[in-house]
Amino acid sequence: MGKKEFKAESKRLLELMINSIYSQREVFLRELISNASDAIDKIYYKALTDENLTFNQSDYYIKLEADKESRTLKIVDTGIGMTEEELETNLGTIAKSGSLAFKTENEIKDGHDIIGQFGVGFYAAFMVADNVTVISKALGSDQAYKWESTGTEGYTIEPTEKEKVGTEIILKLKENTEDENYDEYLEEYRLKQIIKKYSDFIRYPIKMDVTKSKKEDDSDEYVEYTEEETINSMVPIWKKNKSELKDEDYENFYREKHYGFDKPLKHIHISVDGTIRYNSILFIPENRPFDYYSQEYEKGLELYSNGVLIMEKCADLIPDHFSFVKGLVDSEDLSLNISREMLQHDRQLKLIEKNLNKKIKQQLISLQRDDREKYEKFFDAFGRQLKFGVYNEFGANKDTLKDLLLFYSSKEKKLVTLKEYVSRMPEEQKYIYYATGESIERIDKLPQTELVADKGYEILYFTEEIDEFAIRVLMSYEEKEFKSVSSNDLGIDSEEEKASEEETAQNKDLFDYMKDKLAGKVKEVRVSKRLRSHPVCLTADGEISIEMEKVINAMPD
Ligand code: ADP
Ligand code: MG
Repeated sequence: MGKKEFKAESKRLLELMINSIYSQREVFLRELISNASDAIDKIYYKALTDENLTFNQSDYYIKLEADKESRTLKIVDTGIGMTEEELETNLGTIAKSGSLAFKTENEIKDGHDIIGQFGVGFYAAFMVADNVTVISKALGSDQAYKWESTGTEGYTIEPTEKEKVGTEIILKLKENTEDENYDEYLEEYRLKQIIKKYSDFIRYPIKMDVTKSKKEDDSDEYVEYTEEETINSMVPIWKKNKSELKDEDYENFYREKHYGFDKPLKHIHISVDGTIRYNSILFIPENRPFDYYSQEYEKGLELYSNGVLIMEKCADLIPDHFSFVKGLVDSEDLSLNISREMLQHDRQLKLIEKNLNKKIKQQLISLQRDDREKYEKFFDAFGRQLKFGVYNEFGANKDTLKDLLLFYSSKEKKLVTLKEYVSRMPEEQKYIYYATGESIERIDKLPQTELVADKGYEILYFTEEIDEFAIRVLMSYEEKEFKSVSSNDLGIDSEEEKASEEETAQNKDLFDYMKDKLAGKVKEVRVSKRLRSHPVCLTADGEISIEMEKVINAMPD
């Protein structure tokens, strides 16, 4: 028996699709606007090779018209239109993409401007409408056609009148139910909101008649009037030339995007033309969001595919240690999932993430070098996250992060980097010394710091619980190991150490007696040469400092 073709139950398939591929109903508008934009792009491409066609940018637009009385929303475009046959094949066949075919037929290699590829977006209209009418006149044709469908009952096509080339899609919105309200898609503010959210960077103007009011010249009364307005910004800031943009433009964008109420401390504008092409604008916020160190905080960047918003918070684009970074990525090279809400390959995201990780680090390092005050402000807000980053994932990111860390220095009386510390070390100094405590004032008074400080060595003060954990993972910096000032062997002055050993032996009986009295509290009592003004101090046995022991003991099992 020969091979048989699958038969799809189109009605069921359509229903399934309409109700399951999109998580939000509002994206129907994104899909219809994207189609309109594609239709205009097609004229643009045709004009590139057809001498009889000129493409006059200003003739091309998309327009939304809402009519509350008839509960219809109309999406009008001046694109290439559809012939009778195209209406039949493109809108009558699920998963048939005329746009994908157009790209192949015209061998448009850089056809990345054309958004369509799956042949399902149009049907998203049925999420909000129970009747969809498409009136279209194709470029180069005299006759217009009307396609009409209620979704599940099939469609009809008949000749109709239309003056201009292009397409009009008329949605008769569904009746409101108790749970669902469709009227919102007739409201000016709501339509504007959806356009701004998903289609702000469509290259052609998306117009709407908006209601305004003004004061009549010689009266106190306001009068309402309507005026046609372009809603979308068209050219995304990340596609503009960096040299044309001022700090202020980035700041405005940050505010417009609601990334935060603060001002960005720094912006990073990236254009990459490598294996995967993308543009990105990233911001380092000035203030820590109130929920930053809580479960509620969600990291992520906005993800755009060719100017159309795909995901609002794509967590895979940003590593945890830089989770404070806000911004977006726009790429033409993403393999989208059919719903356009997900990607097919995370390999692409991984590549971008790796790249962004590198760039963010570079930018932070240069901020540290060029504007220390700003960097300290940044570190005050997000430094703890960097230390967690060193500690987490078994130290996989420690090399990325070690140069970004700052610690208070006993000598400089301010925050210093590990690099600065090591560069100042006297030749005979073996270790990077640190002391842990609740506060700088407290550590200043620690007897254990005296010997190290007396030697003229710098001590890093660890005042946060995470500090010592992070440093344990780092282990060393430029081959210098870290050493707690309260550890047994400080690696200083072997002669003094020897003398103290001798003295301890001579007074064995006394110390044994003391140890006995302190049974269970200390392991050993001995003479110390590291004290200067204090008579006695406690030191830790082994590699863990007393402070760290406290933290570990306080941890839930
Ligand atoms: P896709 O956009 O992924 O191709 P759609 O289901 O959104 O799939 O649209 C199917 C096809 O219908 C498009 O590829 C295009 O050929 C045609 N089409 C849809 N809307 C329009 C329009 N406004 N103008 C011209 N052609 C359109
Ligand atoms: Mg489409």
